[in-house]
Amino acid sequence: MKHYNIPIFMPELACPHRCVFCNQVSISSQTQIPSNQEIIDKIDTHLRSFKTEKHSVQLAFFGGNFTGLPKNLQKEYLQLGQAYLEKGFISGIRISTRPDYIDMVILEMLKSSGVTHIELGAQSTSDKVLQASGRGHVREAIVRASEQILSAGFVLGLQMMIGLPKDDAETTMQTARDLHAFGAKETRIYPCLVIKETALEQLYLAGKYHPLQLNEAVDQTAKLYEYFESNSIKVLRMGLHPSEELNADSFIAGPYHPQFAELVYSKLWEKQFQNYSDWPQAEVIELAVPPIQLNHAAGFKSQNRKLLEKRYRKIYFKADKSLIGREFSIKIHEA
Ligand code: SF4
Repeated sequence: MKHYNIPIFMPELACPHRCVFCNQVSISSQTQIPSNQEIIDKIDTHLRSFKTEKHSVQLAFFGGNFTGLPKNLQKEYLQLGQAYLEKGFISGIRISTRPDYIDMVILEMLKSSGVTHIELGAQSTSDKVLQASGRGHVREAIVRASEQILSAGFVLGLQMMIGLPKDDAETTMQTARDLHAFGAKETRIYPCLVIKETALEQLYLAGKYHPLQLNEAVDQTAKLYEYFESNSIKVLRMGLHPSEELNADSFIAGPYHPQFAELVYSKLWEKQFQNYSDWPQAEVIELAVPPIQLNHAAGFKSQNRKLLEKRYRKIYFKADKSLIGREFSIKIHEA
């Protein structure tokens, strides 16, 4: 069944913190907390646009720090969602928030208001990285909030970032292992970018912060993806959400690419094809892959096809419904 989220972005105004990398205004292109009417209009517009007959829909309050909003505002927003829940138009509500804004009282309120999924912006599980990133909470806060969320019966999502100050590939991988150990069922992977009017911009301009190169970010994310996939953790997003488009003049530096996830999928297939020099001798081959993987297998801008064309004159990518994941089969193409 196709799943849709109706995303409502909460700008940084909802958050009293200032992580070194964050300028939510630039990322969500939004400076005001949305009004009730704006939210209702957005939900209705989305509901009208869903094409498939059978689908599930969640209302998703993203960005910012939902449980950091004044209590009456949280309740107001959730009541809007509940009206749609009661009519069966949506199946649940998800929110994203900070680990240090979770306690059992808040969880009870969320539970009774139809929230089913809670995503915490964990970002890293290294205290050194959390401190250098100005997160204002320590690893222990993630551990505690995760335990409480799970014990209250929510689905737990733990979001992470790569390329944070004082981060490296091993620390990033340890974060992924920790998210698994903490019970996450979902994650999002965001590469750290240097955005205008942030503390990170100052560090970058002073030569004290060096963002990841795009290829490093893609490599790291591909490894994380493989890890999460093998541990049944759903990767909901890699890179910025399309509706979180950066304001062009806010972007200073870092591994931003509008199709970041495509680059990662392409890399995952490149890894699958790494032994292509051992494949059968032929001029032309057929490469069968799962139908939904056809584009990813050929690669972003056909980069995997071009790689394989170093060995084969022509490659036909074919969809094969019997294959799953990143399975593939090779057949010599008879002219
Ligand atoms: S907690 Fe989230 S919204 Fe608040 S400053 Fe940090 S990244 Fe931005």
